[in-house]
Amino acid sequence: MANTTGIIFDIKRYSINDGPGIRTTIFFKGCPLHCFWCHNPEGISFEPQLMHRPSRCIQCGRCVLVCPHNALEIQEKKLSISWDKCNGCGRCVTECPSGAMELVGKSVTADEVMKEIIKDIVFFDQSGGGATFCGGEPLAQPEFLYELLSRCQAMDIHTAVDTSCYAPREVLEHILDKTSLFLCDIKHPDSAKHNEFTGVENAIILDNIRFLAEKKKPVIIRIPVIPGFNDQPETIETVGKLVAGMKNIHRIDLLPYNTGGQSKSQRMGKQYKMADIQEPTGPNIKALADILNKMGYKVHTGG
Ligand code: SF4
Ligand code: SF4
Repeated sequence: MANTTGIIFDIKRYSINDGPGIRTTIFFKGCPLHCFWCHNPEGISFEPQLMHRPSRCIQCGRCVLVCPHNALEIQEKKLSISWDKCNGCGRCVTECPSGAMELVGKSVTADEVMKEIIKDIVFFDQSGGGATFCGGEPLAQPEFLYELLSRCQAMDIHTAVDTSCYAPREVLEHILDKTSLFLCDIKHPDSAKHNEFTGVENAIILDNIRFLAEKKKPVIIRIPVIPGFNDQPETIETVGKLVAGMKNIHRIDLLPYNTGGQSKSQRMGKQYKMADIQEPTGPNIKALADILNKMGYKVHTGG
């Protein structure tokens, strides 16, 4: 098999929220959507990106001296970053003595990723787990994804692809037989609203979910519950109606909004557009779960 290269920003072992059993989750970098609430904003760009932690910065100024693009300066005893000038070269990261600079995202080979996945085979076997590919958007690096899925399949490792389903049909067809389970987001049933908050309409997504139903591929639908965007009972009910009759849907997950993306966005110099909203309460989530339960769906809430 070719040793294809891709860009990822994390590998997490012992995950229990990304599919059945204990899993190793690989986070692909790069996504065609720009969801306002994204809790992995470091997964949106396809390029490595600088992250700065002011709490660790000792204002030594060493990074300022090495930056080839004059993106850094010390102003009033504080490091100031001109994010538009930074190209993610990473020189400041190497120079920083306090770990205040970090480069998120790196190019890796399929061999390197498989080496990490294989470490946990014994846990996969004991728990019915496997490898989950998420992001960012794994379908946005189709050849890299295909190769990793193929290698897992050849080793009898269960595979899950956690996706927005916003991808050309050919990409889904390409990986279909290599994937054990799809975790598919439906963020909003109304296309205009979807477009307003994610940057894309939902027609391709819903069409791909119908395609997976036709092909009888196991699917878990995931709804990120975002207050003020899609947490109204009628919106959740409409999502339930959209997938009614699809016998391949194993479950619907309600994933309550959390504020985790806010601090990461700030550390990358990005604007966070959902700063003013609160995390949904347990009773709210339960009320939404009850609606889907009554429609006959098995529902999982949380993480
Ligand atoms: S990553 Fe490179 S360009 Fe960006 S601030 Fe650091 S040294 Fe400058
Ligand atoms: S090198 Fe590190 S500690 Fe020193 S000013 Fe730059 S970010 Fe802060």
